[in-house]
Amino acid sequence: MDLGIAGKRALVCASSKGLGRGCAEALAAEGVHLVLNARGAEALEATAAHIRAAYGVEVVAVAADITTEDGRAKVLKAAGEVDILVNNAGGPPPGMWSDWERDDFIKALDANMLTPIALIKALVPGMIDRGWGRVVNITSGSVKSPIPVLGLSNSARAGLTGYVAGTSRQVAGKGVIMNNLLPGIHDTDRATSLDQGVAKADGSTIAEARKKREATIPAGRYGTAQEFGATCAFLCSQYAGFIVGQNLLLDGGAVNATL
Ligand code: NAP
Repeated sequence: MDLGIAGKRALVCASSKGLGRGCAEALAAEGVHLVLNARGAEALEATAAHIRAAYGVEVVAVAADITTEDGRAKVLKAAGEVDILVNNAGGPPPGMWSDWERDDFIKALDANMLTPIALIKALVPGMIDRGWGRVVNITSGSVKSPIPVLGLSNSARAGLTGYVAGTSRQVAGKGVIMNNLLPGIHDTDRATSLDQGVAKADGSTIAEARKKREATIPAGRYGTAQEFGATCAFLCSQYAGFIVGQNLLLDGGAVNATL
């Protein structure tokens, strides 16, 4: 299926690895030119080189921390006009409700709520002027079903979800389509580091911790960055114009809910 977005230009934040990279590769496979971002230059350049060689699209790589004002300014300057924005950043650390102080919340809000909002505010006006745009925010399944140890993430992502719910309806009539993708457990470095934490706490091995988590997923496995990216590319496609302000859960059935 041709998604009808060849030649468009996308900024994919936090995309040297994991889910962001999955989104970048799926867009590149559709002929979308890319601006990639991550803090570590080495992995970022390697991903950029791979995508250029594999898909023949233009790739600009900007090493910067997207959660800082300076980092965003650097990325936005290099990006220029973009048609597609995929918001992503690392998630906050796990912990205990009683340990989190104001500064921990400010950091989480900055990374997982205020950064995507700042990028939306910077880039959506241009999309409106050109009459076409797509925004996909990578949030988390924890928006639908809380993960108690990830309270900082639960809180910040819920805030972004509320903002997108209203904003998506303000811009849809101008050709800009905005939605959220909610990953359940996917096979990335982030999942491995969470498994490491569980293994350490339980005195088990990482393989045992993973097996235990896989047993909680009806699909019986972790998701892949590739299938996550394919869904993102669809939400960025010409066919997604009537999907507005939705929260699409990709979790192998882990959240046990009818709606
Ligand atoms: P990952 O495999 O650890 O990859 C994170 C990517 O983001 C890397 O390219 C990393 O590169 C980049 N990055 C992290 N912080 C950044 C920053 N401040 N500025 C720019 N780039 C940054 O993580 P993932 O599993 O793909 O997760 C992506 C998002 O989905 C996270 O917010 C995570 O909490 C959320 N999520 C993931 C899962 C899952 O199962 N994987 C489930 C629910 C939610 P550098 O480190 O070099 O910057």
